[in-house]
Amino acid sequence: MGVSFDKIDGAMLLEFEKQPATNPTPEKERAAKLVDPGFGRIFTDHMAVVRYSQAKGWHGARVESRANFALDPATAVLHYAQEIFEGLKAYKRDDGGVNLFRPDANARRFRNSAERMAMAPLPEPVFIEAVEQLVRIDRDWIPGGEGSLYLRPFMIANEVFLGVKPSSEYIFAVIASPVGSYFKGGPAPVSIWVSENYTRAAIGGTGAVKCGGNYAASLRAQAEAIDHGCDQVVFLDAVERRYIEELGGMNVFFAFDDGSLLTPPLGTILPGITRDSIIALAKESGTRVREELYTIDQWRADAASGKLKEAFACGTAAVISPIGKVCSASGDFLINGGAAGPVAMGLRKKLVDIQYGRAADTHKWIRKVF
Ligand SMILES: *Cc1c(COP(=O)(O)O)cnc(C)c1O
Repeated sequence: MGVSFDKIDGAMLLEFEKQPATNPTPEKERAAKLVDPGFGRIFTDHMAVVRYSQAKGWHGARVESRANFALDPATAVLHYAQEIFEGLKAYKRDDGGVNLFRPDANARRFRNSAERMAMAPLPEPVFIEAVEQLVRIDRDWIPGGEGSLYLRPFMIANEVFLGVKPSSEYIFAVIASPVGSYFKGGPAPVSIWVSENYTRAAIGGTGAVKCGGNYAASLRAQAEAIDHGCDQVVFLDAVERRYIEELGGMNVFFAFDDGSLLTPPLGTILPGITRDSIIALAKESGTRVREELYTIDQWRADAASGKLKEAFACGTAAVISPIGKVCSASGDFLINGGAAGPVAMGLRKKLVDIQYGRAADTHKWIRKVF
């Protein structure tokens, strides 16, 4: 790539300066906001910020009052979309403690995303420390019950320059948003639209990393799904236009009558941490998991013959969403009669129980913040 970021490794022991908000949300107001927070609209009082410049390396680590960024109109990210992000959650345990789920995996993926986008790779310990610092200072914002605190680490290129090149300066930040149970009364099956006009990713492209541009490019296809009365879009591969890849922001699994599970192989899809966790949990309970290509025509045929029992989408935000209906220009079909099935619901419970500390953490996936 030829991009060098020399001052990276000296940053392993960054000390975060703490500047708590002088005017935090009053307790009563916070409690009112936590009653029904929805997703991604309510934010905590603080943010964590770390800066990078070629001259100083990673520096200026702070946990401070959540505030606007002042950006020059020529800031690189506003023009060339050099931006990456992550998504993970903090869960309140019954004993009042707080769990993070596999933050090391998010830190590693963030670093991979940075490398693909020619950005300064943030040392993984700094990523984890920033997330933990924010969870500690905004602990009172973590909803109880089936709610959680959604954490959004992200990084933007902030060099002021209109030339097309990797920025020499970056801002890494973490913000937090309390979220309610994604689905009240259990997950409702989603309907998905097969995008035949638009693709998400091609070999050699950016499909495997969490960069903002991927989502900008998916919105037109998502809008098309909504126009057709569907909840979500599912993308096909960009070469043959027949292999199932994933949804706009979730990976996908198929469950068969022989007890096996199938999920599309890594490559152009986003390597989901939920996907990886589901594969591990299924395998340890004796399920055969195949990471194989699967075409839309086979999906339709298997749904008709009864060979396919269930399909579901997975990701941090919703954990597991059963897919009830598949729609496309060439017709619709139902999965499991349009209802949630036992495979999806069983895996969902297993995963959620580990996240909330109700089941043994045999994989060492949990990091206790408190
Ligand atoms: C984030 C994301 C996922 C799910 O990843 P998790 O680590 O499980 O949250 C899947 N697909 C896309 C496109 C994503 O952006």
